[in-house]
Amino acid sequence: MAKTVKEVCCLGIESTADDFGVGILNSNGKILANVSDCYLPETGGIHPREAARHHAEVSSQVLREAFQNAGIRPADLTLIAFSQGPGLGPCLRTGATIARVLAAYLGIPLVGVNHSIGHIEIGKLMTGAKDPVTLYVSGGNTLISAFDSGRYRVFGETLDIALGNCLDVFAREIGLKQKKHVPLGASLEQLAAKGKNLITLPYVVKGMDISLSGLLTAAIGLFKSGEYNIEDLCFSLQENVFSMVTEITERAIAHTEKKEVLLTGGVAANRRLQSMIEVIAEEHDSRFNVVPLEFAMDNGAMIAWTGILAHAQGLSIPIEKSFVRLRWRLEEVNTPWIE
Ligand code: AMP
Ligand code: MG
Repeated sequence: MAKTVKEVCCLGIESTADDFGVGILNSNGKILANVSDCYLPETGGIHPREAARHHAEVSSQVLREAFQNAGIRPADLTLIAFSQGPGLGPCLRTGATIARVLAAYLGIPLVGVNHSIGHIEIGKLMTGAKDPVTLYVSGGNTLISAFDSGRYRVFGETLDIALGNCLDVFAREIGLKQKKHVPLGASLEQLAAKGKNLITLPYVVKGMDISLSGLLTAAIGLFKSGEYNIEDLCFSLQENVFSMVTEITERAIAHTEKKEVLLTGGVAANRRLQSMIEVIAEEHDSRFNVVPLEFAMDNGAMIAWTGILAHAQGLSIPIEKSFVRLRWRLEEVNTPWIE
């Protein structure tokens, strides 16, 4: 009797920074589960070892919930994918260890996924975009990418801190506190929406790249002077940094002449940024796409989906070679699933 081919069912683990996420998808791109738990620092930004400890602590609960939501057992899985980089070493290693154990125990292949490409691929899956210029903005990354000459290329990026990080540091400085399911950027967005007066801040675009650290220092300095309205400061910070990424995104669209634009990553949740990118997309007859909120922040579903795409092209990684890659750049990744 002919053996029936088992349907692909991939579990993806995301653990590059503060989120521990598990997603389960099948090869049709159906999301069977997408569960995550975010580490909340007691003070300041992400402490890598504390975040890794959080991931280890919540991992069994997040996995259990993902299997429950998907209505499957571990033995139903055919593939394990994990975020191999870029990211924070201790956090990446924790997710990778769990992925290796699952793949070895279940006797199924393991795929290492580039986190940035995960954000792009989940954006494409969710919006139907095929070949977009992507603006990927999150807590740890800020880049403009498009597929060109057989690879995802970086057209522009930050020269220092990431856009989400810039917003988060300023938010903490003015006393906002991160809560479960309420990112600092979202709280800042609410204050910014009430601002009216645009305060001048450094606007640093260098060629196709941007720099944010001087602007952040200047904004904090203005806040500490006590002479400015806090809502105006949030509004001005957002207007400034979003204009900077919009300017370089527009240039990438003009250069590549792509007919789609994709906004992805945690900061893609911001309405003001969405409207700015939408305007420039329209001006270039390019269709604007934004990843849905659930898949904007770091999540396991994007890793599972990219793992499925890679594995369908024969890509997998032996466990003994599955080291994490802290600085794995987008343009180094082999993406044979893209025509
Ligand atoms: P990620 O690194 O992809 O998990 O995304 C987290 C980042 O997205 C953090 O810097 C958040 O502050 C930021 N973020 C989330 N929601 C918003 C929002 N509505 N506006 C601006 N930034 C946001
Ligand atoms: Mg995160």
